[in-house]
Amino acid sequence: MDLGISGKKALVCAASKGIGKAAAKSLAEAGVELFLCARGEDELKAAADEIGKLTDKKVHFMPADLTNKDSRENLVKGVQERFSSIDILVHNVGGPKPSIVQETQLADWRKGFDQLFESVVHLNEAFLPGMKKNKWGRIVTVTSLSVMEPIGTIAVSNAMRSAVTAMLKTLADEVAAENITVNCVAPGVIYTDRTEERVNALMKEKGGTKEDYLQDYLRSIPAKRLGTPEEMGATIAFLASQPAAYITGSTICVDGGKRRSTY
Ligand code: NAD
Repeated sequence: MDLGISGKKALVCAASKGIGKAAAKSLAEAGVELFLCARGEDELKAAADEIGKLTDKKVHFMPADLTNKDSRENLVKGVQERFSSIDILVHNVGGPKPSIVQETQLADWRKGFDQLFESVVHLNEAFLPGMKKNKWGRIVTVTSLSVMEPIGTIAVSNAMRSAVTAMLKTLADEVAAENITVNCVAPGVIYTDRTEERVNALMKEKGGTKEDYLQDYLRSIPAKRLGTPEEMGATIAFLASQPAAYITGSTICVDGGKRRSTY
């Protein structure tokens, strides 16, 4: 299928590895010109070089900490200098630290807000005017299945990702008539470094083997396997595409059937 976005310009956040990098790759394969950001420069440069080689096109990048306002402002300036405006904005960032509600400090809730909510608001404010001017835009945000089924150990993620989903649903209504779509992609369990880190942390805390924890995940996944970053990347690229023009205000789960609710 022709995604109809060749020559469009995208900012993909948290794109040095995992889901963000896979989204960048899928967009590059569809002919999109890329600007990538993530925290660590070396890994980010390696990702940009790898994707650039795949498509024979320069991939622009800038290290940025999305939890930090000055760093985000610097990123916005960098993207605007390179592209002036962008057509596709992929919001993605690392997850907040795990905790249960009763042990979460106010400072942790605030940090989660900066990371998962304020960063999205800030980048939307910076890039929506260009999309409105061009009468074309795609905003895709990586959230989590936890917006539908809260996960007991990640209180801040449950709360802040739900808040950001509600805010983006509201925004979707506001800009729909201007040919701008706003959607979320909610991963279930995708095999990335983050999943590996979580399994290692569980092994350290509770003992057991990697295989035990992977089998634990599989019990609740009808597909009986973890998802791949590429499956997330392909979904993000589709939501950013021309054929997806009539999908807005939605959350699409990429979870091998893990979600228990019908809708
Ligand atoms: P990952 O650890 O493989 O990659 C994380 C990326 O985020 C890296 O590029 C890193 O540099 C970047 N990053 C982290 N903090 C950042 C910051 N403050 N500013 C800029 N960049 C930052 O993680 P992943 O598995 O690809 O997960 C991506 C997002 O999806 C996370 O928010 C995660 O919580 C969420 N998620 C993942 C899963 C899963 O199963 N992998 C499930 C649900 C939700």
